[in-house]
Amino acid sequence: MIKLGSTIIKSVINLCKKVLGKTRKSQSKQPSFDEPKILSRDQHPVSRKSISHNALKVLYRLNSGGYDAYLVGGGVRDILLGLEPKDFDIATNATPEQIKSLFRNCRLIGRRFRLAHIVFGREIIEVATFRGHHENSEEKNCQKTSKQSEDGMLLRDNIYGNIEEDAERRDFTINALYYSAKDFKVYDFANGVADVYAKQIRLIGDPETRYREDPVRMLRAIRFATKLDMNIQADTKAPIKELAPLMANIPPARLFEEFLKLFMSGKALDNFHQLRDYNLFQYFFPAVDQQLNQQSQVYLADFICLAMKNTDHRVNTDQRVTPAFLFAAMLWYPMQEQIQRLNSDTQLTPQDAFFAALSEIMSEQQRSIAIPKRFQAVMKDIWILQDKLSRREGKRAFKTLEHPKFRAGYDFLLLRAEIESAGNQDAEKTSSLQELAKWWGDFQHSNAETQQVMIKSVGQSRSGSRRTTRKRRKPRAAAGNEA
Ligand code: ATP
Ligand code: MG
Repeated sequence: MIKLGSTIIKSVINLCKKVLGKTRKSQSKQPSFDEPKILSRDQHPVSRKSISHNALKVLYRLNSGGYDAYLVGGGVRDILLGLEPKDFDIATNATPEQIKSLFRNCRLIGRRFRLAHIVFGREIIEVATFRGHHENSEEKNCQKTSKQSEDGMLLRDNIYGNIEEDAERRDFTINALYYSAKDFKVYDFANGVADVYAKQIRLIGDPETRYREDPVRMLRAIRFATKLDMNIQADTKAPIKELAPLMANIPPARLFEEFLKLFMSGKALDNFHQLRDYNLFQYFFPAVDQQLNQQSQVYLADFICLAMKNTDHRVNTDQRVTPAFLFAAMLWYPMQEQIQRLNSDTQLTPQDAFFAALSEIMSEQQRSIAIPKRFQAVMKDIWILQDKLSRREGKRAFKTLEHPKFRAGYDFLLLRAEIESAGNQDAEKTSSLQELAKWWGDFQHSNAETQQVMIKSVGQSRSGSRRTTRKRRKPRAAAGNEA
């Protein structure tokens, strides 16, 4: 009787194991890459000429050290598309320590994702050890250092594996293409070549699981779609809006890096519209997103769009850009609203209200994107210059002209003048902004004699309004408020 009972229990356990095993497999929907499509040299356009000299050096040294090494990701994808890759990434079966022992110019970086950077002056070749799967890692006797959050986010991704597993761990099919400098072949594990030519951004594996593992993949899908003029494939697109709140778990420092890639690479305006459509923009600039939704500021949308268009133009024509300018533009209207609130709620002088608003806006913004201090300082200068630019009497104009950030402050004034004049809501204020922008445009290019005449004429036309100011006993206006 007891024997019969234990046999039944054993068969029930086996049945459960079988059923659970099957469910787990079908739930994870992980593709299994065994046989890649292999494109021989005459079947693809990747040649050694299209790869940077330094990247080739790294590939050759790893190969001669006895390791496998492949060019992977954007380097292969972009060459297939006839574009010049932004950088070259390499994948290898050498561990970070083994890579370090081969290159004197090697730095190991990253905790969540440990990588080797091989530094050649201004060019950095990123070398990553093949990543493996997390669930099976103990069975496969791999080194396990991974952690996963409750939302399914990978807090560490440092389990090493083979090239097939590495391909499965990559984000999109178009990024899972490997070029070997040993046999000159392209190894396509996820049908990425077809997607490159069909212009499809397709996640590898189950989209929801992959976004949960790393929500930044939602941003990457958008970025590649706009950068490469591709479509996000339907299943890859479907869960984004619903999973957007996962972005709240991304550390502000990583979001700053993503901000740079999305907004400083010549596609800021397109990315902005896409991020807004997918409800992702709020995780970058919550205060701006709120004002856009409430439409509480008439000029805000046009102003930030113009600033992004301007930045895109500068990037695409190889002019210098600073993220501080775009940050200053994004937060200008939230800043103005905060100043107004403080002015009406408190007894602060306008100058104190400006600095109080600055501190509030910046500390709220820092919770989303960690803006480095050097850029915060430039943003503050741009804003303060808006007030300085409106004060031209005596020696002030010359002092302002010598300000190290004069050019950025002046460019910012031009944007404000363009937007606020287009709105044409307040005719007096509009004409004064346009007049001011034109005055500074002329002043900076005039000789000393003309500059003195220009300052005198400002003094004369201002004397009436100065008297009014004194009569009202209003203290000094906050930055940007007077112009
Ligand atoms: P580009 O450098 O032109 O922006 P890229 O595809 O090379 O594009 P990188 O950020 O340099 O992008 O990453 C290199 C490769 O690493 C990617 O092509 C992809 O295979 C892989 N990768 C990067 N980020 C992720 C991620 N979050 N999840 C999975 N794989 C990723
Ligand atoms: Mg790259």
